[in-house]
Amino acid sequence: MNVRESEQLMVDLRSAGHEIVEDEKEADVFILNTCSVREQAEIKAIGKSGFLARRKKHGTNFLLGIVGCMAENLGRELFKLNPKIDFIIGPRRLNELKLVLAQPFVDHVLLLGDGKPEASFLSNHDHSSNSANAGVSIMQGCNMCCSYCIVPKTRGQEIYRPIGDIVSECRSLVDSGIKEIMLLGQIVNNYGVGQFKIVDQKSPFVQLLEQLDRIPGLARIRYMSPHPKGFRMDLIDAHRRLKTLCPSVHLPVQSGSDRILRLMKRPYSRERICSIIKALRDKIPNVAITTDVIVGFPGETEQDFSETVSLFEDIHFNMAYIFKYSPRAGTVSAGMLDDVSAQEKDQRNKILLDIIQRDSLRYNQAMLGSVVEILVEGHAKRGDGRLFGRSANGYKVIFDGTDADIGKFLNIKICDYGITALYGNCV
Ligand code: SAH
Ligand code: SF4
Repeated sequence: MNVRESEQLMVDLRSAGHEIVEDEKEADVFILNTCSVREQAEIKAIGKSGFLARRKKHGTNFLLGIVGCMAENLGRELFKLNPKIDFIIGPRRLNELKLVLAQPFVDHVLLLGDGKPEASFLSNHDHSSNSANAGVSIMQGCNMCCSYCIVPKTRGQEIYRPIGDIVSECRSLVDSGIKEIMLLGQIVNNYGVGQFKIVDQKSPFVQLLEQLDRIPGLARIRYMSPHPKGFRMDLIDAHRRLKTLCPSVHLPVQSGSDRILRLMKRPYSRERICSIIKALRDKIPNVAITTDVIVGFPGETEQDFSETVSLFEDIHFNMAYIFKYSPRAGTVSAGMLDDVSAQEKDQRNKILLDIIQRDSLRYNQAMLGSVVEILVEGHAKRGDGRLFGRSANGYKVIFDGTDADIGKFLNIKICDYGITALYGNCV
């Protein structure tokens, strides 16, 4: 979501006459788009802003701004922490940055809280890259109140974009060469709930997927993240019916212990998670399931953690983001005792990581010798000039190719594998 918002901002600033420079030393304005989900993300951003402030102190003149969730979360506090910061703008007011930069002087500008980003701002896309996939935000904010999470504070209540706006944005992306679209939101399957009608027992999110599925030339749709709470048969069925909807689902479970899920205020049980995943696997061939999980939530006992371990062992996720619990001031769980030691959190993190790595390796090994259709995304990091793409179910495939392959569908025969990627040759 942050990557997408940086893109919206970048295009907005370009159309206001600014230029994006590659080398940070050339910048007249330095903007840090930040995250607040864990303390570590904030520490990193504060460290970088301190480094930049020192450059300003030594005579280099540029404007320094903090935008995004940490800006919203810490607000004025950031000016105290670092007086060299010139502007602080929350995630709902990013579209106002161009107005700030148009002023003759920018002196400790603070723009927080609700804003009204124009529809045109939300649909800004950078067409200068030759990539074949794009992210599209379908909603802002989050109405849930997971006890550990800062997002409702930083991003506010849910606001849904009209279906028509999203469809026309996707149409024009496809006209510009995009083949794959990732729909973005904090809980995408809550899209339009309570605001748009349920039609033929289909949620507004499924209705949106159906409309997008009809766009000629759009090959793949993905979405992130859905919530187990509203993950119903209409969505599972959509995966079976809609040709563009990819067989990959990122379903954040957070814990395998019902007791911890209740403390987290996640309104579902372990049994519900298992039944959603079973239904997905029964209905969708080759579906890949990935997840988010938090280790070391306040009060997580050995027994609670062993239930998360057994969930991982029962489900065999394709991949998981494992987060060590980080107390965030202002959340409900920040008032609970953070009683799992850092060492124990590391230990639990490692146990889950080992399971995931073993499972990923097994999934990847099973692909050896098969031919996989991928959409080529670009150059692989540390890939010695090789390219990478993804299969419909999200497997990363690295292969030898040329720049002309980027944005194309290719068939690759898999001849090797690692934990995070498959390796192969074009056939
Ligand atoms: N809206 C998405 C998640 C957004 S935040 C959802 O509900 O699934 C991304 C992930 O960060 C979460 O899934 C959670 O695993 C992790 N996270 C959020 N707050 C956290 C905290 N205080 N400490 C550690 N991890 C956290
Ligand atoms: Fe945070 Fe929960 Fe909302 Fe996800 S659903 S953004 S974890 S409050």
